[in-house]
Amino acid sequence: MINHLEGKHLKLVHYLCNECKKQQNITFTDKDKSDFYPPPPFNGLALFSHLHTCKGGVTGVNNLYIDHNLDVRSYNFVKLPEFQRKRKMMIPGAPKPKNPEVNITHIRAKNDLNIIMINEVAGANITIGTIPETDPVKILSSDMEMVQIKYFESNTKLDNLMEKWMQMLVNSIEVLLPSNIGLILESLIYILEEKRMFPSDFDAKLIRTILASHDVYISNVSEDSVDHLKNIYEDGEYMVGIIALLKENSTMRLHDFTNQMRGVSIKKIIYAILMLENHGAIHVDRPGILSMM
Ligand SMILES: [Zn+2]
Repeated sequence: MINHLEGKHLKLVHYLCNECKKQQNITFTDKDKSDFYPPPPFNGLALFSHLHTCKGGVTGVNNLYIDHNLDVRSYNFVKLPEFQRKRKMMIPGAPKPKNPEVNITHIRAKNDLNIIMINEVAGANITIGTIPETDPVKILSSDMEMVQIKYFESNTKLDNLMEKWMQMLVNSIEVLLPSNIGLILESLIYILEEKRMFPSDFDAKLIRTILASHDVYISNVSEDSVDHLKNIYEDGEYMVGIIALLKENSTMRLHDFTNQMRGVSIKKIIYAILMLENHGAIHVDRPGILSMM
Protein backbone atom coordinates (compact mmCIF):
# COMPACT_ATOMS: atom_id res chain seq x y z
CA MET A 1 0.00 0.00 0.00
CA ILE A 2 1.44 3.40 -0.98
CA ASN A 3 0.23 6.53 0.79
CA HIS A 4 1.06 10.11 -0.03
CA LEU A 5 1.75 12.06 3.10
CA GLU A 6 3.52 15.42 3.30
CA GLY A 7 4.98 14.83 -0.15
CA LYS A 8 6.63 11.59 0.90
CA HIS A 9 5.90 8.18 -0.50
CA LEU A 10 5.23 5.89 2.41
CA LYS A 11 4.91 2.16 2.24
CA LEU A 12 3.32 0.23 5.07
CA VAL A 13 4.59 -3.30 5.50
CA HIS A 14 3.19 -5.96 7.81
CA TYR A 15 4.61 -9.28 8.88
CA LEU A 16 4.10 -11.67 11.76
CA CYS A 17 6.96 -12.21 14.23
CA ASN A 18 7.22 -15.96 14.70
CA GLU A 19 8.68 -15.54 18.17
CA CYS A 20 6.02 -13.37 19.88
CA LYS A 21 3.28 -14.17 17.30
CA LYS A 22 2.43 -10.48 17.04
CA GLN A 23 1.89 -8.54 13.85
CA GLN A 24 4.66 -6.04 13.15
CA ASN A 25 4.07 -2.88 11.17
CA ILE A 26 6.82 -0.91 9.47
CA THR A 27 6.59 2.28 7.48
CA PHE A 28 9.21 2.63 4.79
CA THR A 29 9.86 5.96 3.08
CA ASP A 30 11.51 6.86 -0.21
CA LYS A 31 14.63 7.58 1.78
CA ASP A 32 14.72 3.97 2.97
CA LYS A 33 14.46 2.84 -0.61
CA SER A 34 17.43 4.96 -1.66
CA ASP A 35 19.35 3.60 1.33
CA PHE A 36 18.66 0.02 0.28
CA TYR A 37 19.15 0.41 -3.50
CA PRO A 38 21.47 0.42 -5.30
CA PRO A 39 23.26 -1.90 -4.89
CA PRO A 40 21.29 -4.98 -3.91
CA PRO A 41 23.74 -6.52 -1.48
CA PHE A 42 22.46 -10.08 -1.47
CA ASN A 43 20.40 -12.01 -4.03
CA GLY A 44 18.98 -8.77 -5.32
CA LEU A 45 17.37 -8.41 -1.89
CA ALA A 46 18.39 -5.90 0.75
CA LEU A 47 18.71 -6.87 4.39
CA PHE A 48 16.81 -4.79 6.94
CA SER A 49 16.82 -5.60 10.65
CA HIS A 50 13.50 -4.78 12.29
CA LEU A 51 13.66 -4.40 16.08
CA HIS A 52 10.58 -4.59 18.28
CA THR A 53 9.59 -5.41 21.85
CA CYS A 54 9.28 -9.18 21.63
CA LYS A 55 8.59 -12.04 24.02
CA GLY A 56 9.33 -11.24 27.66
CA GLY A 57 9.64 -7.50 26.97
CA VAL A 58 13.07 -8.10 25.42
CA THR A 59 14.10 -6.53 22.11
CA GLY A 60 13.63 -9.03 19.28
CA VAL A 61 15.13 -8.78 15.80
CA ASN A 62 13.74 -10.07 12.54
CA ASN A 63 16.03 -9.84 9.55
CA LEU A 64 13.84 -8.97 6.58
CA TYR A 65 14.88 -9.47 2.97
CA ILE A 66 13.34 -6.68 0.93
CA ASP A 67 13.01 -6.30 -2.82
CA HIS A 68 13.18 -3.09 -4.84
CA ASN A 69 9.44 -2.47 -4.27
CA LEU A 70 10.09 -2.58 -0.51
CA ASP A 71 8.09 -5.79 -0.25
CA VAL A 72 9.23 -8.32 2.35
CA ARG A 73 10.23 -11.45 0.45
CA SER A 74 11.41 -13.49 3.44
CA TYR A 75 12.42 -12.98 7.05
CA ASN A 76 13.92 -14.82 9.96
CA PHE A 77 14.14 -14.26 13.70
CA VAL A 78 17.68 -13.60 14.94
CA LYS A 79 18.77 -15.85 17.80
CA LEU A 80 21.92 -16.79 19.62
CA PRO A 81 22.76 -20.40 18.80
CA GLU A 82 21.14 -22.94 21.12
CA PHE A 83 23.12 -24.95 23.65
CA GLN A 84 25.64 -22.13 23.68
CA ARG A 85 26.59 -22.91 27.28
CA LYS A 86 28.04 -26.27 26.33
CA ARG A 87 30.54 -24.64 24.03
CA LYS A 88 32.42 -23.26 27.01
CA MET A 89 34.17 -26.61 27.38
CA MET A 90 36.49 -27.13 24.44
CA ILE A 91 38.98 -29.93 24.03
CA PRO A 92 42.52 -28.56 23.70
CA GLY A 93 43.94 -29.13 20.23
CA ALA A 94 40.56 -29.91 18.67
CA PRO A 95 39.71 -27.70 15.69
CA LYS A 96 37.62 -24.80 16.85
CA PRO A 97 34.10 -24.85 15.40
CA LYS A 98 33.39 -21.75 13.36
CA ASN A 99 31.10 -19.29 15.10
CA PRO A 100 27.77 -18.76 13.31
CA GLU A 101 27.42 -15.26 11.90
CA VAL A 102 24.62 -12.99 13.06
CA ASN A 103 23.99 -9.82 11.04
CA ILE A 104 21.98 -6.86 12.27
CA THR A 105 21.87 -3.80 10.02
CA HIS A 106 21.21 -1.26 12.78
CA ILE A 107 20.00 -1.07 16.35
CA ARG A 108 18.72 2.51 16.33
CA ALA A 109 19.21 5.07 13.57
CA LYS A 110 21.39 3.85 10.76
CA ASN A 111 25.16 3.78 11.28
CA ASP A 112 24.82 4.46 14.99
CA LEU A 113 27.31 1.72 15.64
CA ASN A 114 29.48 -0.39 13.33
CA ILE A 115 30.92 -3.26 15.33
CA ILE A 116 31.75 -6.94 15.11
CA MET A 117 31.38 -8.77 18.40
CA ILE A 118 33.36 -12.00 18.40
CA ASN A 119 31.78 -13.92 21.21
CA GLU A 120 33.32 -17.28 22.07
CA VAL A 121 31.14 -17.57 25.17
CA ALA A 122 27.83 -17.24 23.35
CA GLY A 123 29.25 -19.02 20.30
CA ALA A 124 28.35 -16.40 17.70
CA ASN A 125 29.93 -13.52 15.82
CA ILE A 126 27.53 -10.62 15.81
CA THR A 127 27.89 -7.88 13.19
CA ILE A 128 26.00 -4.65 13.79
CA GLY A 129 25.86 -1.86 11.22
CA THR A 130 27.83 -1.57 8.01
CA ILE A 131 31.41 -2.68 8.32
CA PRO A 132 33.74 -0.44 6.27
CA GLU A 133 36.68 -1.83 4.30
CA THR A 134 39.07 -0.01 6.61
CA ASP A 135 40.66 -1.52 9.71
CA PRO A 136 38.78 -1.21 12.99
CA VAL A 137 39.46 1.92 15.03
CA LYS A 138 40.17 -0.36 17.96
CA ILE A 139 39.76 -3.95 19.10
CA LEU A 140 38.51 -4.23 22.68
CA SER A 141 39.09 -7.53 24.45
CA SER A 142 37.61 -8.92 27.64
CA ASP A 143 39.93 -9.97 30.47
CA MET A 144 39.99 -13.64 29.39
CA GLU A 145 39.82 -12.69 25.69
CA MET A 146 36.63 -14.73 25.16
CA VAL A 147 34.71 -11.67 23.95
CA GLN A 148 36.06 -9.05 21.55
CA ILE A 149 34.54 -5.99 19.97
CA LYS A 150 36.05 -4.71 16.74
CA TYR A 151 34.99 -1.09 16.73
CA PHE A 152 34.75 0.54 13.29
CA GLU A 153 34.23 4.16 12.25
CA SER A 154 30.61 5.24 12.74
CA ASN A 155 28.48 8.19 13.85
CA THR A 156 29.28 7.14 17.42
CA LYS A 157 32.95 7.98 17.91
CA LEU A 158 35.05 5.80 20.14
CA ASP A 159 36.07 8.45 22.68
CA ASN A 160 37.30 7.73 26.22
CA LEU A 161 33.73 7.47 27.49
CA MET A 162 32.57 5.03 24.81
CA GLU A 163 35.69 2.93 25.25
CA LYS A 164 34.98 2.63 28.98
CA TRP A 165 31.41 1.47 28.26
CA MET A 166 32.51 -1.05 25.62
CA GLN A 167 35.19 -2.44 27.93
CA MET A 168 32.63 -2.87 30.70
CA LEU A 169 30.28 -4.60 28.25
CA VAL A 170 32.80 -7.16 26.93
CA ASN A 171 33.89 -8.04 30.47
CA SER A 172 30.27 -8.37 31.59
CA ILE A 173 29.27 -10.58 28.63
CA GLU A 174 32.25 -12.84 29.23
CA VAL A 175 31.08 -13.62 32.77
CA LEU A 176 27.30 -13.31 32.39
CA LEU A 177 26.37 -15.29 29.33
CA PRO A 178 23.23 -13.75 27.82
CA SER A 179 20.53 -16.24 26.81
CA ASN A 180 19.09 -14.02 24.14
CA ILE A 181 20.52 -11.66 21.53
CA GLY A 182 17.95 -9.07 22.56
CA LEU A 183 19.70 -8.75 25.92
CA ILE A 184 22.96 -7.79 24.19
CA LEU A 185 21.04 -5.25 22.09
CA GLU A 186 19.24 -3.85 25.17
CA SER A 187 22.69 -3.30 26.71
CA LEU A 188 24.02 -1.56 23.58
CA ILE A 189 20.91 0.64 23.32
CA TYR A 190 21.32 1.63 26.98
CA ILE A 191 24.98 2.49 26.30
CA LEU A 192 24.04 4.65 23.28
CA GLU A 193 21.55 6.52 25.49
CA GLU A 194 23.88 7.01 28.45
CA LYS A 195 27.31 7.29 26.87
CA ARG A 196 27.75 11.00 27.60
CA MET A 197 28.87 10.11 31.14
CA PHE A 198 31.34 7.56 32.44
CA PRO A 199 29.53 4.35 33.44
CA SER A 200 28.61 4.49 37.13
CA ASP A 201 28.29 1.48 39.45
CA PHE A 202 24.54 1.76 38.91
CA ASP A 203 25.01 1.55 35.11
CA ALA A 204 27.27 -1.49 35.47
CA LYS A 205 24.73 -3.16 37.74
CA LEU A 206 21.92 -2.36 35.32
CA ILE A 207 23.74 -3.76 32.28
CA ARG A 208 24.77 -6.89 34.20
CA THR A 209 21.22 -7.39 35.43
CA ILE A 210 19.98 -7.08 31.82
CA LEU A 211 22.50 -9.63 30.55
CA ALA A 212 21.83 -12.16 33.32
CA SER A 213 18.12 -11.40 33.69
CA HIS A 214 17.18 -15.10 33.31
CA ASP A 215 19.09 -15.83 36.55
CA VAL A 216 17.73 -12.95 38.64
CA TYR A 217 15.20 -13.50 41.47
CA ILE A 218 13.40 -10.81 43.44
CA SER A 219 11.69 -10.89 46.83
CA ASN A 220 9.96 -8.28 48.97
CA VAL A 221 11.69 -7.46 52.26
CA SER A 222 9.97 -4.32 53.51
CA GLU A 223 6.42 -3.81 54.75
CA ASP A 224 6.63 -0.08 54.00
CA SER A 225 4.40 1.31 51.32
CA VAL A 226 6.16 2.56 48.20
CA ASP A 227 3.18 4.52 46.88
CA HIS A 228 5.01 7.82 47.41
CA LEU A 229 7.64 6.77 44.82
CA LYS A 230 5.01 7.39 42.15
CA ASN A 231 5.43 11.11 42.80
CA ILE A 232 9.22 11.08 42.90
CA TYR A 233 10.20 9.05 39.87
CA GLU A 234 9.09 9.14 36.30
CA ASP A 235 8.75 5.33 36.33
CA GLY A 236 7.44 5.23 39.90
CA GLU A 237 4.23 3.50 38.83
CA TYR A 238 6.29 0.48 37.74
CA MET A 239 7.91 0.34 41.19
CA VAL A 240 4.46 0.31 42.81
CA GLY A 241 3.35 -2.37 40.33
CA ILE A 242 6.36 -4.55 41.14
CA ILE A 243 5.66 -4.38 44.89
CA ALA A 244 2.00 -5.25 44.25
CA LEU A 245 3.08 -8.40 42.37
CA LEU A 246 5.52 -9.30 45.15
CA LYS A 247 2.73 -9.08 47.75
CA GLU A 248 1.08 -12.02 45.94
CA ASN A 249 4.29 -14.00 45.24
CA SER A 250 7.09 -14.18 47.80
CA THR A 251 9.78 -14.60 45.13
CA MET A 252 9.61 -13.90 41.41
CA ARG A 253 12.00 -14.34 38.54
CA LEU A 254 12.79 -11.13 36.72
CA HIS A 255 11.24 -12.61 33.59
CA ASP A 256 7.96 -13.22 35.46
CA PHE A 257 7.60 -9.44 35.75
CA THR A 258 8.07 -8.96 32.02
CA ASN A 259 5.27 -11.49 31.45
CA GLN A 260 2.96 -9.80 33.97
CA MET A 261 3.77 -6.21 32.99
CA ARG A 262 3.14 -6.56 29.29
CA GLY A 263 4.28 -3.77 27.03
CA VAL A 264 6.86 -2.50 29.55
CA SER A 265 10.44 -2.96 28.35
CA ILE A 266 12.82 -5.12 30.37
CA LYS A 267 15.11 -2.12 30.80
CA LYS A 268 12.36 -0.06 32.50
CA ILE A 269 11.49 -3.00 34.76
CA ILE A 270 15.13 -3.53 35.73
CA TYR A 271 15.56 0.19 36.37
CA ALA A 272 12.54 0.14 38.69
CA ILE A 273 13.86 -2.97 40.45
CA LEU A 274 17.29 -1.42 41.05
CA MET A 275 15.67 1.73 42.45
CA LEU A 276 13.50 -0.37 44.78
CA GLU A 277 16.64 -2.21 45.88
CA ASN A 278 18.33 1.13 46.62
CA HIS A 279 15.30 2.06 48.74
CA GLY A 280 15.65 -1.20 50.69
CA ALA A 281 12.18 -2.36 49.66
CA ILE A 282 13.24 -5.55 47.90
CA HIS A 283 16.02 -8.09 47.81
CA VAL A 284 17.58 -8.91 44.44
CA ASP A 285 19.39 -12.21 44.10
CA ARG A 286 21.73 -12.04 41.10
CA PRO A 287 24.28 -14.84 41.12
CA GLY A 288 27.70 -13.88 39.82
CA ILE A 289 26.85 -10.26 39.23
CA LEU A 290 27.71 -8.60 42.53
CA SER A 291 31.06 -10.37 42.70
CA MET A 292 32.06 -8.34 39.64
CA MET A 293 31.49 -5.01 41.35
ZN1 LIG B 1 8.50 -10.76 18.27
